[in-house]
Amino acid sequence: MLLFNVSQSMANFSCVRECPHCQHNTYHLVNQSRFLRFIILPIIPLKLRYLFECYQCGQSERTSLIKQPFLELISLPKYVIGLIFSVLLALYGYQQYIENLQLQQSYVDNPKAYDTYLIVADKFTGEAWTLTNLKVAQVIKFNKDTITFQVSNYSYKRNNGITMAMRTSLLVQSGYFSHSHLTLPRKQVHTLYNQGVIYEVLRPKAYSLYGGFVMFPPKPKPLYQGLKLDDNNQQGVNYYKAGLYIQAAKSFTLAAESGSQWGQLNLAQMYRDGQGVAKNNKTALFWYKKSMAQGNKKARHELALLCKESTDCK
Ligand SMILES: [Zn+2]
Repeated sequence: MLLFNVSQSMANFSCVRECPHCQHNTYHLVNQSRFLRFIILPIIPLKLRYLFECYQCGQSERTSLIKQPFLELISLPKYVIGLIFSVLLALYGYQQYIENLQLQQSYVDNPKAYDTYLIVADKFTGEAWTLTNLKVAQVIKFNKDTITFQVSNYSYKRNNGITMAMRTSLLVQSGYFSHSHLTLPRKQVHTLYNQGVIYEVLRPKAYSLYGGFVMFPPKPKPLYQGLKLDDNNQQGVNYYKAGLYIQAAKSFTLAAESGSQWGQLNLAQMYRDGQGVAKNNKTALFWYKKSMAQGNKKARHELALLCKESTDCK
């Protein structure tokens, strides 16, 4: 498909007058302007040229732009519509770019836990330069003088590798970040940002960047003391929401074995659905019954549902 093209305007047959050469009423205005267009949108005129031509005797005569009919004159801006659009678009893009820079600068000035920095690894950590020299650093804590980061064990050649890691929630997988932390004076962090060693600063929204988790949701406060026992269950729920089923199943197992009715219920669901563990209806029934024995009504309901479609109850 031809996107950019040079085009000639249509002849203007509506503007007809008497021919000075043959006196027929066939002297009409021809618009021979040529313009660069994008698909059908004119961008800039390459040549503005109007002439009168007789289609009886064939005589023609150039006519100046100023002498065009009023409608033709006021419609002249049509030739620069594309140019105006491009300028507006560029201005808008530039404004967004500036705003984004200001936002990133404000993130550096006022850090928050889990701010995620994209960094040039060798200059940030002092490690040796490699072909894959881009890493992720996440703010762990900070005080008025320093910021402490955890730096990824993984390194990347290109930025889209990092984007993909975020999108697929890799950052919350255990082992993604190094256990040894890096504490830098705030002043140095500023300098690194200005030098482009920190080349992007992102702040998670809803615990996510690019649609993937980059941090676990903070633990909600227990509703009452009795729920304290369910810490493992709560952790399991967090893992589950992040799509980390194996970790979730492990947490639910700990909770279930320590006697949490909700842990037992959740673990039963994992066995029923085969999420994070091998599907096993018998084990699911075992944990439903444990939970039910503690008076869990949801477990009773789920057990009844499972028994309807499974023969493992008998
Ligand atoms: Zn004529």
